[in-house]
Amino acid sequence: MMKCPYCGGEMCEGQIHSFNSGIEWRSRGESMRLNTEKGLSKMLYGDRIEAYRCEHCKKILISYE
Ligand SMILES: [Zn+2]
Repeated sequence: MMKCPYCGGEMCEGQIHSFNSGIEWRSRGESMRLNTEKGLSKMLYGDRIEAYRCEHCKKILISYE
């Protein structure tokens, strides 16, 4: 379980997916479109990475290693 560094609450495990037109958050049974910021979109293009989301703080945490 991952704890949110902002509020200390439990974070939801999922993935960030990227595709042609944008970036999406996906976890079991849920997907959510994220803002498309050009630089980030390019960095993640065609890839998916593990991430954690805090619904309370509206934050998504990504580990890069
Ligand atoms: Zn939080």
